[in-house]
Amino acid sequence: MSTAPPEISTETQTIWESVLGIIKENINIRSYNTWFAPIDILNIDSDYMELQVPNQFFSEWIENHYAKLLKNAVTQTLGESRKIKYYVEDGPLNNTSPYEETEHQENTVHLNAPSKSNYTSSPFYTRINERYLFDNFVIGDNNRFAVAASRAIADNLGKSHYNPLIIYGGTGLGKTHLIQAIGNSVLQKAPGTTVYYASSETFTSHFINAIQQNNVSNFSQFYRSCDLLLLDDIHFFSNKGKTQEEFFHTFNDLHQNGKHIVLTSDRPINELEALEERLISRFKWGLVVDIQPPDYETRLAILRNKCDESELDIPGDVLEYLAVNLEDNVRELEGALTKILAQVTFTAAEPTLNLARQIVKEIAKPDKQFLNIDTIMEHVASHYGLSPDRLRAKIRKKDIVIARQVAMYLSKELTKHTLVTIGLHFGGRDHATVLHSIEKVIKTMQEDDAFKQRVNAMKKHLSYNR
Ligand code: ADP
Ligand code: MG
Repeated sequence: MSTAPPEISTETQTIWESVLGIIKENINIRSYNTWFAPIDILNIDSDYMELQVPNQFFSEWIENHYAKLLKNAVTQTLGESRKIKYYVEDGPLNNTSPYEETEHQENTVHLNAPSKSNYTSSPFYTRINERYLFDNFVIGDNNRFAVAASRAIADNLGKSHYNPLIIYGGTGLGKTHLIQAIGNSVLQKAPGTTVYYASSETFTSHFINAIQQNNVSNFSQFYRSCDLLLLDDIHFFSNKGKTQEEFFHTFNDLHQNGKHIVLTSDRPINELEALEERLISRFKWGLVVDIQPPDYETRLAILRNKCDESELDIPGDVLEYLAVNLEDNVRELEGALTKILAQVTFTAAEPTLNLARQIVKEIAKPDKQFLNIDTIMEHVASHYGLSPDRLRAKIRKKDIVIARQVAMYLSKELTKHTLVTIGLHFGGRDHATVLHSIEKVIKTMQEDDAFKQRVNAMKKHLSYNR
């Protein structure tokens, strides 16, 4: 049975992206790309969230492995839970599916795939998000220069001297939006251009896959065929020597052939741990611009802009309240609007100042029950470009020790666990070691401002994505 796909509203899409954001923080990128990136949201109502998956095996796998995560992410986003219904695209796979008779059958309805328009068709299935445009990026004193440099590249691709352009700034300040806006703008002007966007995690996992499957030459060829390579979050390359080396060669090739490269990082290039000197010196050929946290006026303008985009009618004093109280990053502002949107849409609540107060409180005060030590370890490890296993192991390399201490400190700050429990999670260390680590972090934070900012940024990130 086939039915026409429903129109998918911006609200629905926004909510779903917020759910995906939470999921992404909680599983590794490969699982995310395999199981969640291919899902499309179809509809959300007061009872159900309806998802379209490529085949029935998918829905089974998700139900068996990620049901809890998905439910939690939905509940966090909407403030209440939804049942999940899966739909399968029409296709030969389903007709021969061995899962036809399973209990999931009743939840699975056939549907024509909604036509997805995406510019890039690559063997790696990553794509630029068409919603990230210069047009909907609010300019303020915090990002004016970064936007100007980005536009200069989009307007003069191949001629601009800012190669590479490196955009750095804290989390949730618009790096990903801006780097993709460059791609979208170039593609609008010259649709034939080969633009490729990838997170550095994706680049790394493609590279590792290529090694495992013995086709590194395919990998190289693919990345070297870009006219414009947009590589997000290069801090992820910290401590990944082989990937750095591969990236170094890709970079040189592209640069020599007059192709353009734009990179983002969550900290200044010279503060990236264990980034090879030769890479850093290459980066110095280009232009480095930063994005700072937005000021009050810019925060308000961003909120107004988002409301217009989603056709949300929220009173001025509510927006002002949010702009005053949520100072740190734009993702937080968006999160607040998404929560209001969900309440208004599904519970017929009014978007009042009271509702805003309640939401600000939720965002500002992390729920200590929800966050677990493993999530903290994963986040801190990935920040330092390490695998979480290394935090559990008995390794005394300096950067691993620092990452481990930070993760212990954040576990104490963000969860209700005792020192003993925290120690157990970190490879069975005793409570005195944990205490010593926490004290070390506190002391270093007092002495080293950059370190303090970095730890606080991780804390915020984890608090928000709890
Ligand atoms: P980062 O990559 O720096 O962590 P993102 O680019 O993901 O941050 O931004 C987080 C969210 O905030 C995105 O949804 C983005 O569209 C939005 N955003 C950030 N800065 C702005 C801005 N100046 N104007 C409009 N939206 C913004
Ligand atoms: Mg980003």
